Amino acid sequence: MKPSIIRLRALEKQLFAYRYALNTVDFDAETVAPEGSADGRAEACEVLSRASFELLVNADTAALLQQAAAEAETEQEQAEVRQLQRQYDEIAKIPAEEYAAFTKLCNQSIPVWVKAKRTNDFSLFAPYLEKIVAARRAQAHYFAPDRDPYEVWLDRYEKGLTIAQCDAFFATLRETIVPLLADIQARGKAVRTDFLDQVWPLDGQRAVSQKIMELWGLDPAHCYLAESEHPFTTEFWRGDVRITTHYMERDMFSNLYSVAHEGGHALYELNIDPAYDYTAVTGGATMGLHESQSRLFENLVGRSRAFVSFLYPTLREIFPDQLADVTAEEVWRAVNRAEPGLIRTEADELTYALHIMVRYELEKALMQGTLAVADLPAAWNAKYKEYLGVDVPDDAHGCLQDIHWAMGDLGYFPSYALGSAYGAQAVDDLRKTMDLDAQWAAGDLEPLKAALKARVWQWGCMKEPQWLVESLCGGKFDPHHFTEYLKKKYTELYEL
Ligand SMILES: [Zn+2]
Repeated sequence: MKPSIIRLRALEKQLFAYRYALNTVDFDAETVAPEGSADGRAEACEVLSRASFELLVNADTAALLQQAAAEAETEQEQAEVRQLQRQYDEIAKIPAEEYAAFTKLCNQSIPVWVKAKRTNDFSLFAPYLEKIVAARRAQAHYFAPDRDPYEVWLDRYEKGLTIAQCDAFFATLRETIVPLLADIQARGKAVRTDFLDQVWPLDGQRAVSQKIMELWGLDPAHCYLAESEHPFTTEFWRGDVRITTHYMERDMFSNLYSVAHEGGHALYELNIDPAYDYTAVTGGATMGLHESQSRLFENLVGRSRAFVSFLYPTLREIFPDQLADVTAEEVWRAVNRAEPGLIRTEADELTYALHIMVRYELEKALMQGTLAVADLPAAWNAKYKEYLGVDVPDDAHGCLQDIHWAMGDLGYFPSYALGSAYGAQAVDDLRKTMDLDAQWAAGDLEPLKAALKARVWQWGCMKEPQWLVESLCGGKFDPHHFTEYLKKKYTELYEL
């Protein structure tokens, strides 16, 4: 190994250590840290973030990256240089004072957004959002002066993604989902839901969580389940992934599918090639690929008829009274019911993509300057009416519901919907050679996991995202697999 690569590896390990420390702090903050702990944590985080920033962005690192690029011999060494160079460019291309001002703006904007949402007052948040949009446009210009600023950000979150692809993707979804939803509502055939809202003792719910962890094959020596307000996954390193859930006494299935979802994220991280440990090529490749795995385990497996039929006897054993007169078939229908609503995070599998489509169209318009921030609430409400047929009562349940824009993330939302579609195509392709339904009906996820590990998990960031998407899908990405899957599932479910 060339001396430049040895130095590069040392730098990667240092960066890993800071990331590890910051992840620990974040995980602690979301799970067990007491309410009054924020001030000291903010101080500590600032020191750690600055140290990590200075370690990466300086003249020595720039020179080292150049030398390492010339001397990298193996595919892995080349990928490490590529990944670190990207991280470096992401920061170094923006003038230092603008970068610092933007970080400060986001730090200020988040608590303002919290207050705006709580008091249902969009006018508090509007001036911050205006500045964020302007800053993101300016930053896009530094990365690629001749490119549409929104597309620059799409490409940063989901490498290779273009506006044309996104437009075509959402058009395909809209053509199928909007009329399908209208059909379901016109048909008026209700799915039985009366048993969902009752007391589900938390001891039983914890037993359900353990069962899902066990079925997913999440080894408690490497994956810990904690509780937090909103479920999430944090990877400390390949041998230590933490997931969280949120228990609600009157909603058993919310926890079940949170564990199923976060467990999918965890499987991805836990199955990356150990050769990449502590380097820049470990970790999931993109947010879209990550969501493809979590939503695959949550929806394609977890909400399938085959898997629900397998899980049902366990649920009956844990909750004999609650499920006394409920059949497996009724559980399957209930956990898949389609209901247009106001809140993205509560949306079902069918309507979820419509929530994302609203955000995609609006953030694109904001970034392209065709929509003013002041007009956002009205535009939001009009799109919810058009696509989901619902009236938005106030901005707290409308354009203020998500934290993403307050954090400066514009161009991030499409990944959620793309992930669902990647997963559907992957499962379609795997079905050509595997009897997945028979396996899931027997509670056997090992063949599926082995296939996903071979196609995606093991690679970390070694391969480019577009390569990984094709590897996962078994060919070029085509959203029709997702729309056909939805059509088939909901036609069957609602007997259309
Ligand atoms: Zn997720």
